[in-house]
Formats: sequence, C-alpha cells, structure tokens
Amino acid sequence: MAKILRDYEVYLVYVDPDRCDSCEDCVKYCPVEVFEMPHKAIPVRPNHCLGCLTCTAVCKSDAIIITEI
Ligand code: SF4
Ligand code: SF4
Repeated sequence: MAKILRDYEVYLVYVDPDRCDSCEDCVKYCPVEVFEMPHKAIPVRPNHCLGCLTCTAVCKSDAIIITEI
C-alpha cells in the first residue's frame, strides 16, 4: 500500500546543528525521508514526519527533537 504523505505539519522536527556530527543515521533510518544531508542533517520534509521517533533513537548525539504541534 502506498504511503499517504501530508502537505501540512503535525510534528515539529528540529536538529541542533551544534550537536549533529553528520553521521547520516537519521537520513538512513527515517521511513519517510524527512532529512537531507548537505553538511549537517536538515529536516527538509517535516510535513512527512510520522512521529515514530526512530530518528531520536538512532541519533547518538541527541541532536533531534520531535514535538507534536
Ligand atoms: S543522526 Fe543525529 S548526529 Fe547523525 S546526522 Fe542525524 S542529527 Fe546528525
Ligand atoms: S520521528 Fe520518524 S518520521 Fe519523524 S523525522 Fe523522525 S524518523 Fe522520520
């Protein structure tokens, strides 16, 4: 079944650039491709976020904060 992706935000996705060590784990493990990795992780598609918290679990730097809006 195709994923249904929203065009509005339900979760605020924040990455602290001072903590991010550019390991790319959030890019690899987010199931809906919220993050891209030009240099530090950037949440380019926060409207896709499902609030699953996989990114916060895999981020060893505790750089990601997910907040329900
Ligand atoms: S998992 Fe954390 S440290 Fe790694 S790229 Fe993502 S935000 Fe940065
Ligand atoms: S909470 Fe889940 S869906 Fe949202 S950015 Fe993190 S890994 Fe992706």
